[in-house]
Amino acid sequence: MDIILATSNTHKAEEFAKLCPVKLINICAASEKLEVVEDGASFLENSFKKAKAYFDRYQKPILSDDSGLCVAGLPDQLGIESARFGGVGLSDENRARLLITKSLEFSGEQRSAYFICVLCLYLSEDEIFFFEGRLEGAIATEYKGEQGFGYDPVFIPTNGEQQDTLAMLPEFKQEHSHRSKAVKALLSFVGERDCQ
Ligand code: IMP
Repeated sequence: MDIILATSNTHKAEEFAKLCPVKLINICAASEKLEVVEDGASFLENSFKKAKAYFDRYQKPILSDDSGLCVAGLPDQLGIESARFGGVGLSDENRARLLITKSLEFSGEQRSAYFICVLCLYLSEDEIFFFEGRLEGAIATEYKGEQGFGYDPVFIPTNGEQQDTLAMLPEFKQEHSHRSKAVKALLSFVGERDCQ
């Protein structure tokens, strides 16, 4: 199945390329970046908005990804607002470092967090499917690691190497991340559909 990936985020595109076997899904980058206002009330609504905008433009199967970090101690500031945390003009590193600063006062449970990824597979106006993956963990006390992107350097996954951030665990991320789990659900759906 040929699918256009509705993202201009090169890090996400690289992760999808590694996660999707070409035999089942051939993911291609969109030839142009569409500006989609992400003002939905949920990850699902935002992933739908992105997929629909690209479907309307290309009239071909689309895969979109809306993802973010939900932090117990900052329930209203991240989540669907993860990309805008701290306001406009901040880099990914600025945002991640701001999160460390804001979490310095946190105790126990407030530090717990999870990454979430919602994929929208938009095949036609009548065939729209969603897949979700989560990765549980906690906010680190310092910014560490060179791999990955976004909030990876400040997130310590549960079941990873203790105290290593996701940015230090590329193999763990590939196998267990929120995106990896959502893609596995997508691949299983596409595989079953192909067999029918
Ligand atoms: P969006 O889905 O492109 O709107 O991204 C939401 C925010 O979450 C951005 O700030 C991303 O950098 C961040 N984000 C999304 N996925 C990941 C990930 O896998 N690791 C770290 N940060 C991520």
